[in-house]
Amino acid sequence: MSEQIIVKNPATGEVIKEIKKNTVAEINEAITIGEKAFKTWKEVNANEKSRLLRRWADLIIENIDELAEIITTENGKPLVEAKGELKSGVSYVEWYAEEAKRIYGRTVPANSGDKRILVSKQPIGLVAAITPWNFPGSMMLRKAAPALAAGCTFIVKPAVETPLTTIRLIELAHEAGFEKEVIQYVNGRGSVVGELFTSSKAIKKITFTGSTNVGKILMRDSASTVKSLTMELGGHAPVIVCDDADIDFAVEQTIITKFRNAGQTCVCANRLLVHESILDEFTEKLSEKVSALNMGNGLNQETEIGPVINKDSYEKIINQIDDAVSKGAEVTTNNQDKHSSENEAYFVAPTILKNVSLDMNIMYEETFGPVAPITSFNKLSEAIEIANDTPYGLASYFFTNDYRNAIYLHDNLDYGIVGWNDGAPTAAQAPFGGVKESGLGSEGGIEGIEPYLETKYLSIGNVE
Ligand code: ADP
Repeated sequence: MSEQIIVKNPATGEVIKEIKKNTVAEINEAITIGEKAFKTWKEVNANEKSRLLRRWADLIIENIDELAEIITTENGKPLVEAKGELKSGVSYVEWYAEEAKRIYGRTVPANSGDKRILVSKQPIGLVAAITPWNFPGSMMLRKAAPALAAGCTFIVKPAVETPLTTIRLIELAHEAGFEKEVIQYVNGRGSVVGELFTSSKAIKKITFTGSTNVGKILMRDSASTVKSLTMELGGHAPVIVCDDADIDFAVEQTIITKFRNAGQTCVCANRLLVHESILDEFTEKLSEKVSALNMGNGLNQETEIGPVINKDSYEKIINQIDDAVSKGAEVTTNNQDKHSSENEAYFVAPTILKNVSLDMNIMYEETFGPVAPITSFNKLSEAIEIANDTPYGLASYFFTNDYRNAIYLHDNLDYGIVGWNDGAPTAAQAPFGGVKESGLGSEGGIEGIEPYLETKYLSIGNVE
């Protein structure tokens, strides 16, 4: 097996860099170092932790152009999106720099006057993170920031497709003043590093963003050491457009939620459910705008849609289109000659499908690509039934200007994140997390630091 990770530019197929895979001995050494460093890092006071996090955030912003170029080169997304990702990641670092100062305990009335009950929070210990290639910057930052703020030490394994962003961000963390032992990275294949992380007694928590299948492996393998887990897994987001919605606004927001990162986000719209009375108008307006999206190398200023990450992704997406068309779907975008898979660079032209039925794979399988199938509904209860017919429960969206529709949809959508007239709901101060097979726990908000803390209870007897 190769000792190197070869990082390629998905827009050109060119090799950007070769980096060394860490050996098992090196990874175990990093775990030992992180475990040892926890003993001193947990004692650092909240103001100092906060100051270091703020300094890190500042350095990321100072270096945003260089970092964005790294993201675009290894992931493929347009530069403007790469910068947006970094700003989003930095907002988590800033938020948790403040939360570091608000790790409160409480006192509770006891059953008798001579007793006292105190509840306190303590950092859980060494945390291991495994991150995906679709947001190489922000997925790492939103795990590292609450972990460090809580007083945990941190090791991350980035995706083999996109390790360079993580390496640079961690260099900046060290430059900001974090000891090298407090925040580390290791590089290697997921299955190898995953096994070392899950079986290690020194690692007290695993935080993972990636596919539901890999999440299940990590959950199973973590059972032997009863590790705390935060899992941000797959999604199959529905977008429901009601008959009273502002159609132009719904089209614009659907494009934001569907085509960001070439459709490769776990909160990307996967299915569009449109009221039958506005189906034709919505489909027409959306198809026209989507056909005009500019596809190309993300380093070019005018690019709106970059490549998909690799051949497997490309084939899966094209197969979903072919499957839908063979079962009666119709492509309404006029750019299908632009799909291309030459020189190990894989581009899928943004595609809208109509006449979609529930027997098509795209209505159930996560697409992770720039393709949107449209189906129609008559009653809202029908839309809810279709929307909830999936093992996933991460993000969902609806467009309506009628508060009664909104309350009904909010109450009945089995999803952890709901966007009402909003195609971009992610925010550092809000809890991002899925229900059902989309995950465990939340990232962001006051909820996002809890998984890095243990609750301890002290009962004092005989005080009087
Ligand atoms: P994606 O489909 O987004 O690539 P994966 O779940 O395959 O999602 O990958 C997300 C992260 O999980 C990557 O860092 C990858 O290397 C890692 N990974 C893949 N397989 C495993 C595994 N068996 N155990 C632990 N981590 C894994």
